[in-house]
Amino acid sequence: MLSFYKPTATRHKILLEDKAFPSDHYAVESQIRLRGFDPQKSMLLISPRPGTGGEETLRTEDIVRRIEEEGDSIAVVMFSGVQYYTGQLFNMAAITEAGHRKGCFVGFDCAHAAGNVELKLHDWGVDFACWCSYKYINSGAGGIAGAFIHEKPQRHCQACAGGLVGT
Ligand SMILES: *Cc1c(COP(=O)(O)O)cnc(C)c1O
Repeated sequence: MLSFYKPTATRHKILLEDKAFPSDHYAVESQIRLRGFDPQKSMLLISPRPGTGGEETLRTEDIVRRIEEEGDSIAVVMFSGVQYYTGQLFNMAAITEAGHRKGCFVGFDCAHAAGNVELKLHDWGVDFACWCSYKYINSGAGGIAGAFIHEKPQRHCQACAGGLVGT
């Protein structure tokens, strides 16, 4: 996140799930503060549909619409691959594509996805991802963490051809 979250006055938001894993939520909050922005204004939280009965998982169409509506002010879209509490498998390809259409970087916390579901981070064009190996990869004490950074973070990203990286 340090490398990918380079907020500007007009593009300073991070979009994430409202009930993300607590340490992910705090990490986003502290990255925003670190860059001198206000989490109240820069942290965009997306929740499942409310209403009678409510819904427990997020609809891909709602995530994509939110990115389309607010993407111009979003620097980073950050989701989990598989939600740690609901077990929802996010459509990482669709979320990545939507983010790139609006010039956002897109990253995933794959802690509950690595070793659990098929991941094609490179093919999907995901910019960055991280995971631990003590869950579905069954490592023991001292198990290492994993990180993925796409060899070409801007590959699918016409909107950021002007150079978000390095600014
Ligand atoms: C387990 C988990 C983490 C924490 O991983 P550590 O290896 O303890 O740092 C972070 N995010 C999610 C979504 C997790 O499920």
